[in-house]
Amino acid sequence: MQGLMQARPLTIAHAFDRAERLFSHKTIATARSARTETVDYGTWAVGVRRLAAALDALAVPVGARVATFARNHQEHLDLYFAVPVTKRVLHTINIRQSSEQLRYIVDDAQDDVVFVDRELFATLWASAGDAASVRHWVIIPDGSDVELPPDPRIIHFADLVGRCEPCAGSFEANFGAADENLASGLCYTSGTTGRPKGVVYTHRSTMLHSLGVLVAGLIGMCERDVVMPVVPMFHANAWGLPYSAVLAGSKLVLPGSSLDPVHLLSLIEAERVTLTAAVPTVWLDALPHLEGHDLSSLRMVIGGGSAISPSLSEAYRTAIGIPVTHSWGMTEMSPTGVIGGTRSQHDGLAPEALVEVGAAQGQPMPLVNLRIVDLDTGVELPWNGTAIGELEACGPWVAAGYLHEEGEGAFTDDGWLRTGDIATIGPDGYVRLVDRIKDLIKSGGEWISSVQLESAIASHPAVVEAAVIGRPDPRWIERPVAYVVLKAGAWVSSEELLAHLAPQVAKWWIPDEFVLVESLPRTGTGKISKVQLRQGVQST
Ligand code: ADP
Repeated sequence: MQGLMQARPLTIAHAFDRAERLFSHKTIATARSARTETVDYGTWAVGVRRLAAALDALAVPVGARVATFARNHQEHLDLYFAVPVTKRVLHTINIRQSSEQLRYIVDDAQDDVVFVDRELFATLWASAGDAASVRHWVIIPDGSDVELPPDPRIIHFADLVGRCEPCAGSFEANFGAADENLASGLCYTSGTTGRPKGVVYTHRSTMLHSLGVLVAGLIGMCERDVVMPVVPMFHANAWGLPYSAVLAGSKLVLPGSSLDPVHLLSLIEAERVTLTAAVPTVWLDALPHLEGHDLSSLRMVIGGGSAISPSLSEAYRTAIGIPVTHSWGMTEMSPTGVIGGTRSQHDGLAPEALVEVGAAQGQPMPLVNLRIVDLDTGVELPWNGTAIGELEACGPWVAAGYLHEEGEGAFTDDGWLRTGDIATIGPDGYVRLVDRIKDLIKSGGEWISSVQLESAIASHPAVVEAAVIGRPDPRWIERPVAYVVLKAGAWVSSEELLAHLAPQVAKWWIPDEFVLVESLPRTGTGKISKVQLRQGVQST
């Protein structure tokens, strides 16, 4: 027997129409170079409508890719909505990709129009200025005066939207029941292990993910929140936070181009931010500056993209009363699948036990299914907190394939995404990441978790952060080597680090060498680049 409920589509258009009607007084603040500029949702919605009309004026076909090469600001948010609510596809390009990758991505996506921050123009133009598919280059003003070539395809954002009347009516009304599976967005994986791959989000997947972020007990974003995505809007849709915030009617704070810790902390203080999210590096850099800022408005600081060491999280708990909460995901997961934090079962736990709970990546969001499988046999492993296997995921906001690619090896025969992460899952569903498959160190036939070693080293009071990689070894195949960044003015000997690790990890896990470095190389999304570290190791 079939149910008798209305087959209405889940669309981003609904989130926009709702926000415009319910929350027109709520605000969006953007940090510009000179000051913070605030508009209300009502004014913003008119801008989105103007931009939608401008896309029509440019004759951008339905389904065409509209690319952005931009930071976190209001114009980017305009595009986040104007593009998909008119059934075009928002393609957010990571500004830190290599020029070769940029060219590949623009060609693979067949972008029709590109919206680019003026300051970033030269980078994209040098790599993809002659891309045949791109009919228009729209320059977003950002206070910079980067020179622009005399090319008829180049238009200024203000000129483009200034000559268009806002289009009228409900966007949602233009979507039929089947349209919820139309593509709404396109993000490429970072391509650290091969060519970037295009992940194509649908309206449905984006809205379900957005609702997932609103679920109480996990992130629980709501209208009362003041949300500041520090994670870039070109990185997996800023972890979906802009879509969730508009759906919830939260105030949004967009930090612009600077990731300077004092700038970010001042914004949190001035705008009374309650919920913010970034990769661990950002929180690490902000740590020495927490004192001196009133951060009492914060209820949740989210860290993801790579593991947050318990020592970093605890430093936040000590300084501002809340830890850094893990969020695990990947571009293919829209991107969030697991959220850290406690449940009622943890009430009354001793502080040390709470640190353990916080060290886990957390529990799966509703609608996300996870399993772990044996690395060699692929057999599903028990959720006992000790069995270690590759994490696989399925759910309505998990990718089923890649643009123009079979996705060979990335999916199981029964359609689950192979994440490339290795984890344990506890009986209560708490996931703890052990490592990425490619970062695991195999020593004498046994596995060493680089993540656990890094956390253990980072718990030394003189250490800021550490990265551990495997160095080829004739006897053991690989042996761990640790690259360690010390606090300014601090000093620690290898012997002292050894003594610090001894009670924490097995003897054969202890790195063969500790290399003190000023800083660690980063990838385009702010994660430690083990690829570059390995290249350094191989060349020495
Ligand atoms: P890439 O890291 O290749 O640029 P993504 O941005 O999609 O691509 O990152 C996905 C990967 O980041 C995950 O597979 C996982 O290895 C890592 N990751 C994400 N969140 C966390 C977390 N909270 N803890 C540890 N690792 C994480």
